[in-house]
Amino acid sequence: MENYNRLVARCNKIARLGQLAGLAGWDQQTYMPPGAAEARGEQLAVISELIHEMTVADETSQLISSAEAEIAGMDSDSDEVRSLRVVRRGHELATKIPGHLVAEASRHQSVAMPLWAQARAESDYSKFAPALEKSIELARQVAEHLGYKDHIYDALIDQYEIGATRADVAKMYADLTPHLVSLTAAIRDAKPNDDSVLMGNFPIDRQQSVTLDIVKSLGYDLNRGRQDIAAHPFCSGFSRDDVRITTRFNSEFLQQALYASLHEAGHAMYEQGIPASLNGLPISNAASLGIHESQSRLWENQVGRSRAFANWAFPTLQAAFPESLGNSNAEAYYKAVNVVRPSYIRVEADEVTYNLHVALRFELECALLSGELSVKDVPSAWNARMEKFLGITPPNDSLGVLQDVHWSIGLIGYFPTYSIGNIVSAQLWNAASREIPDLCRLVETGQFSPLLYWLNTNVHAHGCKFLPSEIVLKATGEPLNPAYYVNYLNTKYGELYGL
Ligand code: ZN
Repeated sequence: MENYNRLVARCNKIARLGQLAGLAGWDQQTYMPPGAAEARGEQLAVISELIHEMTVADETSQLISSAEAEIAGMDSDSDEVRSLRVVRRGHELATKIPGHLVAEASRHQSVAMPLWAQARAESDYSKFAPALEKSIELARQVAEHLGYKDHIYDALIDQYEIGATRADVAKMYADLTPHLVSLTAAIRDAKPNDDSVLMGNFPIDRQQSVTLDIVKSLGYDLNRGRQDIAAHPFCSGFSRDDVRITTRFNSEFLQQALYASLHEAGHAMYEQGIPASLNGLPISNAASLGIHESQSRLWENQVGRSRAFANWAFPTLQAAFPESLGNSNAEAYYKAVNVVRPSYIRVEADEVTYNLHVALRFELECALLSGELSVKDVPSAWNARMEKFLGITPPNDSLGVLQDVHWSIGLIGYFPTYSIGNIVSAQLWNAASREIPDLCRLVETGQFSPLLYWLNTNVHAHGCKFLPSEIVLKATGEPLNPAYYVNYLNTKYGELYGL
């Protein structure tokens, strides 16, 4: 096992470098003085270059081959076999794409992102279209180098959600979209619910302490984490013992910071929950973006937007903000955090409409990559789908096709991971509810540890030893099944809107 051990040690070194880069990136978005941007960019570039060099080096490649020979014949579910599979995949992803293409893509991103930002600010798609054309062309080249069996999209999505294919995702949306469209339409025709209870005066210092108290109650370990402020909420882990979250505060709208904190704490508890026994092994990472998002969504929505949670959290919130919440109650709060309103912007969308925004992007990406849709026709294709799915047409491209940063920074094939996360969250919640007696009552009384323990055992414990599809199967007893998400939404919103 000498070569295997040497390989693991080498991978561990590479991982440590990545963690330090992550720490520098966290600082960049939280406390770094603005004047340091250029120097930080150079520092991070040096680390990425080092990581890439070490990953593709002949030494790594030789160690992989000799380690594979050493472990031949071992159980295919052993840590050793699974670790080597993870290392080989990382090595192949890094070596299949030629250096000049990586450099070209990186140069393109630094040009395309400001063009996108300008186009969005001016709501002028023509300023972004040439950059998008190039992004699509580069994505096509990357996909050809990575290789795929059926559809060019397969190569791209596999980078973010290992094992997922265009056909899987198309089937997922075929199962999901018609239900979401009809539920959205039914809610649009129903008597609207009121969310005015969430608007008022919510001093930021009190929001800071109350959000932190709440995520601590859920099980976010502040001895191995902290919460800071950033323009865009995120979670960043530099080992299982240092997983940090950020949120953003709006003194007139309570929902924003609290639900960003719940979401990011869900991500953080996943990384904190990966067992110490996997430390230093290549399988000690999260399984995929979709599985990561299932954890954030589960705590944000299945827990945080439940009536049980409202009953538990409202008295704390009321005590913190007596001026604004003094005359309200838990039921009004529950209705308010679950208001459904078709809207133009994905990141502000409610649970019912959110995945329609993502389905739209998936369809357009596939059509762009296969050449069925040309870049100049994207805004009209976007608006037509918004009308079909949500019954609204964006008044301009800033509120439509130009809203997301993803396509300017080469993230094509990424969006469906958000929907996968939502679907997995409902499936996991269903399985947890079967196995934990009285789960809702536990949430209502602030006892979150049985749920966290269940997630620790059934999801977090695996790291990335298994494929995302294997984790879903092990944890829930069946493959990814959108029916749980559809049932969850139909039941909850049917009752909320009297459908
Ligand atoms: Zn997330």
